[in-house]
Amino acid sequence: MTEPIIVGNWKMNTNVSEAVHLAQQIRQAAEQSGVDHQCSIVLCPPFVNLSAVGNCLRGSTIALGAQNCWTEPYGAFTGEISAAMLRSVGCEYVIIGHSERRTIFHEDDALIRQKMLRAWEESLVPILCVGETLHERQLHRTWNVLESQLEQLLAIEERRNPWVCAYEPVWAIGTGIAAEPPQIEQAHAFLRALLDAHGCTHVPILYGGSITPTNAVAIFSVPNVAGGLVGGASLNADSFVHIIAASIHARATNR
Ligand code: PEP
Repeated sequence: MTEPIIVGNWKMNTNVSEAVHLAQQIRQAAEQSGVDHQCSIVLCPPFVNLSAVGNCLRGSTIALGAQNCWTEPYGAFTGEISAAMLRSVGCEYVIIGHSERRTIFHEDDALIRQKMLRAWEESLVPILCVGETLHERQLHRTWNVLESQLEQLLAIEERRNPWVCAYEPVWAIGTGIAAEPPQIEQAHAFLRALLDAHGCTHVPILYGGSITPTNAVAIFSVPNVAGGLVGGASLNADSFVHIIAASIHARATNR
């Protein structure tokens, strides 16, 4: 059984000194408790803090990730960052299609597909976020939404590349209201079957949405949950490392 994956999405938080301090605290707590060798840990700070955080993580097992990238390798795209640039500062992962990008910045599935292709071209592991809004859930459209968010991607040959899928119900992100384990179980079973049917048996599925140290063990004990994408709770080293430890505990208990 592979080890769990826990990704910290710091969103637009931390200046450079705060980012360095947080990365140091997480590294120290993870190494002292030994969780760094039992879990794949990824930190995704804001772009401007990637180099500084990368320096703090050098020599550790903790990987660096970014929160977004653009579709082209270079050129006249003012304000954008390419996957090649991310690679050059030591990133191994990149979050693609986060619901905040889809909603606030109007990213659609076609653009997200382009970003996935670019990430693969630069040997980054994309973490693709999918999930329904509350309105879509209330209309019983959850499965259609998940399927359509994955459709364009599953149609392309490059799917043999490594990638990670994150089920993030939009209504659970940053709200303090995590999905209930039965809801997570249903969604992950649906996604697992969909991915498997398209030959993506190698793709882990993370859950994201208001994970805390309190609910983490219950969430990570749900079948087909391979780890978590953690926003708010990743900004506190103690909480984040608690969540990492919970993923390891749940994996060992449910083995
Ligand atoms: C996220 O940003 O992907 C996320 C899940 O945030 P939070 O944990 O704060 O809900």
